[in-house]
Amino acid sequence: MAYPTEWKGSYYDGQSVVPQFVTITVTDIGLTLHFADYTNTTWNYHELRQTQGRYSGEEVRFERGTGIGETLVIPSPKILLAIHEHGGPHANHFHHPRTRHTRVYWTVLAALASIPIVYGIFTWGIPSLARPITAAIPLSWEIQLGQFVQQEVTAGNPVCNNPKLIHAVESILTALTSSIDPLPYQFQVTVVDSPVVNAMAAPGGYVVVFRGLLQDTASPEELAGVLAHEIQHVLLRHTMHLIVRHVSMAFVIAALSGDASGMVAYALQAAQTLQTLSYSRDAEDQADEQGFRLLQRSGINPDGMVTFFAKLGEEQPANGVLRYLSTHPATEDRLTHLKALIPPDSRTYRAFPFQGEWSDINTSCK
Ligand SMILES: [Zn+2]
Repeated sequence: MAYPTEWKGSYYDGQSVVPQFVTITVTDIGLTLHFADYTNTTWNYHELRQTQGRYSGEEVRFERGTGIGETLVIPSPKILLAIHEHGGPHANHFHHPRTRHTRVYWTVLAALASIPIVYGIFTWGIPSLARPITAAIPLSWEIQLGQFVQQEVTAGNPVCNNPKLIHAVESILTALTSSIDPLPYQFQVTVVDSPVVNAMAAPGGYVVVFRGLLQDTASPEELAGVLAHEIQHVLLRHTMHLIVRHVSMAFVIAALSGDASGMVAYALQAAQTLQTLSYSRDAEDQADEQGFRLLQRSGINPDGMVTFFAKLGEEQPANGVLRYLSTHPATEDRLTHLKALIPPDSRTYRAFPFQGEWSDINTSCK
């Protein structure tokens, strides 16, 4: 069967949350994007990652580049058939919709299962159902939301891009995430050039660390402690749960149905929620404990987590605003709980190659 070579889609440049509408031509080497101003560009198949569109009826999403790269969203999943037809062997690594039948079945079942939830929202309200709602939200939706939330949080702030700093932060993140199996998210960290002492995790694994917090860490292990804690908030879906509890009904229904249109409006609401509200005490304890275990599994000395939180309670940063402390109070209880997790034997932990240079690295930004 011959599938059309021309498709409609939305292009996001990775800088702005505003889409540009494009016409896409499927060729034998890649996708050519035609913009409204008559310019065009070709994305070769080998540069593309398909990050959505594996389930029936889902929009297809391709990404290019690292970090918040460029994104292309195509509403019709049939473009995958056209890509397989015209792209030949170059396009083998993309999902083939013909393997979808069993997934269609599961999607229909999931849709039916979500009806009682929608009924329940109207009867009991969102907060009391936040847990089952969070569990029913498709992962792909969560990831896309997280990407937009991260863009909202970092908007208007320059980003630190010092190569040594980025390398060090990424090495710590990789050390942590490589011991998680299976890893449902591609975690990434953005360092924002702001004196505020804060860190937060958006859904889908998008972690934001503010320069003020980085400068307050005395060692790679202290930063690893904060990252491990934030990673657990994402893995345990605390972030998604907090957002669900506090946003509108329209958001929740769109999330349950996987409808991505208007995602930008929800992202703003979600970003505000994450920056102004705190997790429950239980969620904090869980993130501490699981974060601690993650550090141990990754061979990173978990003492850093304890010393950092203890320091946060005592010190005033030179010129920053201690925002992290307002959401992560360094109470006696918390510190006692953390210290109790430290194993009695003295183990050998990994040493990061940049250990000795940390006081230079954590103060560099540009
Ligand atoms: Zn926390």
